[in-house]
Formats: sequence, C-alpha cells, structure tokens
Amino acid sequence: MFETLTPQAPDKILQLIGLFNADPRPGKVDLGVGVYKNAEGVTPVMRAVRAAEKLIWDTETTKTYTQMAGEPAFHAAMAELVLGKDYPKDRLAALQTVGGTGAVRMAFEIGRMANPGTTVWVCDPTWPNHLTILDFMKLPRKGYRYFDAATRSVAFDAMIEDLQAVQKGDLVLLHGCCHNPTGANLTLEQWAAVADLLAQKGAVPMIDLAYQGFGDGLEEDAAGTRLIASRLPEVLIASSCSKNFGIYRERTGCLLVLGDTATRAVTQNTLGFLNRQTYSFAPDHGARVVTTVLTDPALRKEWEEELEEVRTGMLSLRGQLADELRRLTNSDRFDFLARHRGMFSRLGATPAQVETMRADSAVYMVGDSRMNIAGLNTNSVPVLARAIVKAGV
Ligand code: PMP
Repeated sequence: MFETLTPQAPDKILQLIGLFNADPRPGKVDLGVGVYKNAEGVTPVMRAVRAAEKLIWDTETTKTYTQMAGEPAFHAAMAELVLGKDYPKDRLAALQTVGGTGAVRMAFEIGRMANPGTTVWVCDPTWPNHLTILDFMKLPRKGYRYFDAATRSVAFDAMIEDLQAVQKGDLVLLHGCCHNPTGANLTLEQWAAVADLLAQKGAVPMIDLAYQGFGDGLEEDAAGTRLIASRLPEVLIASSCSKNFGIYRERTGCLLVLGDTATRAVTQNTLGFLNRQTYSFAPDHGARVVTTVLTDPALRKEWEEELEEVRTGMLSLRGQLADELRRLTNSDRFDFLARHRGMFSRLGATPAQVETMRADSAVYMVGDSRMNIAGLNTNSVPVLARAIVKAGV
C-alpha cells in the first residue's frame, strides 16, 4: 500500500541548509534557519537552563508518568509568564504540549471540536507551518492582509478591512510579537482595535506567542496578548519555550485556553483528552526545566539577564545594519530594519535578488527574503549590507 504515498513538498529552509553546508566559500553568511545564534554562531544552552538541569539531576527521584495535561506547576508558571501575575485562574485551562507547534496544533484541534464549522483566519504572510497544518487537518482557512511591501510595516487598514468578513466562532490567528516572517508588529493601539473588532464579531483570537522576550522585553512582548485576554471572553494562546529558553530540541510548549468559569473544567478535561489521543503525555524534561527556572528567584534572574543580552544583541545588530545601509545608499529606505522586532525581518528583495546575494556574496536567506538577524555578527553586517546594495534591492 505504501506505493500510494507521494513525496511531500520539501522544506525550503532544510534545502537552504543543505546548500549552505555545501558552500566552500569562507565568510559565508547563514540567515536562513530560525534559531538564535550568538556572535560565534553558536546556539548556547542558557546558563539558568544548565543550572536547572543540574538541580533536577540532583533532586529528581522518579521518572514515572506525570499528568495527562501536564504538570499544574508548569501551567501556572507559563500562565504567569504570558498573562502576568493576576491572570484569571478561574477562567484558565492549560495544556503542556510538544513545543509551540504542538500548542498550535492542539489549539486548532480544540477550536474544531468546539465549533466544527470554524474557519481559521491567518495573516498573509505567516509561518508556513500554520498553513500546512491547517491544510493537513482539512480545516478551512482564509488569509487576511498583514504586510505592506512598500513600507515593510503592518498594512493595518487592509488587515481590518479583511477581518470585517470574520464570522462568529471563527478563529483568528495573530502573532503575539516578533512576527515571523516579517518582523513587523502591531502597536498597542492596533491590538486594541483588533480586540474591539473580534469582540464585536464574536470571533475567537488564537495567539501564537513563540518569541516572548525577543522583541521589546518579556512584559512588553506579552502586552498585546494580555490586552486581548482582558477584553475577549474566549482566547487561545499557543506559547513556545523553544526560543526564549533556548530549549528547541526539548520540545516544550503550553496551550492556554481562556473561557468562562462554567466551562473551565470541561475545557481542561478536553485538553487532557487531546494529549491522550495524540501522544499521551507530553515530554517532561523541558517543562520541568522551565518551571524550575521561572519559580526559583535566582535562576529566574539569571535567565532574564541572559535573555536580555540576547534581545539587546539582536537590536544592536539591527541598528548597525540599518546604519551601514544608510551610509551605503545615502537614504533611509532600510530604516525599517531597526524598527522591526524579533529574530526576523523581511527585506523585501525579489527571489532573483535573493539568488544573486547567494551566488555573488554567499549570503543565504529564505526565498521570500526573510533574514534571521541572529545569524549576523559585527563582522558579517557590512558583508550583508554590501550584498544587499550589490543585488540592487
Ligand atoms: N510559531 C511560530 C511563529 C514559530 O516561528 C515557531 C518556531 N519556528 C513556532 C510557532 C513553534 O516552535 P517550536 O515548535 O519549535 O516550539
């Protein structure tokens, strides 16, 4: 029967990694894959994570199963991180998931269980996995305009215009911060306008929060999510610990579901059911590390400090790149790079220009011209700036 299977579309980023690895040119620059790298090109184990792992190693006495929806201590620590200290406990159900991707998938699953007729509204562009997961699940989806190619900022009027067509019970997917792939984000005023519109339509916001702490700070990056959570009766939040804890391969994420007090218990029960039907228990190690880091004051301080180093490091690379391009082009047309937030910026180059940068300058970025800013260091910023100008972007 396996002869009926056909190859799936190749992952563009994995293809790019293959090309990059095969390139013999010294000084090649990898801006493709979406992981944080320090100035040495290393994705380090964070100091507080290592210390928490040691603590767990020293104190853990059993590896028996935990709870189907995950540990309540992890739920509480994540809810506080995402929603703040005064989060509404009586309205919150939570699920420990296999990474942020697992949280996204389970959000779609519970959305469909609650409303089989739901359509999912997705920003254009978005993280490609959103689209492939929805298509694989055969969930109807519609796009809303998000990015203005000319200014490289949010096309807010177009976004609001498109979201006028949202129906009651539809899910509207929003990136909580550090939009992937563009780097362009909503202002708090714009979040408020989206909240009003979705409340008026009876739609359910689903926030994908994969980069909290990578943009303007831990609290600031959660501000839009918190605003939505305070104004809408029902909200889904898929939070990833991969980036801000640097624990990509530990597969740690959390789905938070806000509803009303009366439905909380059944929602919590349904979340556990979803884990059970899919893989039973989510992996424990990463979630235990996160809980330990967040609840131990010394480890938390250490983690916040290192995360801040990561964040400000990326911001200064953005500033340096924008400055260099201003100098080379005698114009401010690349200043958007300093205004974008998070790991990514969409440069706005054509596929041909992206290919020119690869062929002529050994600069690798995804075909839609998404650049991973963390792939840069102070030496490669001028290389990239020259490549951008040379390719005629
Ligand atoms: N959402 C977005 C927008 C992402 O960019 C990512 C990571 N690439 C994720 C979710 C999920 O990441 P993970 O499953 O590795 O936690």
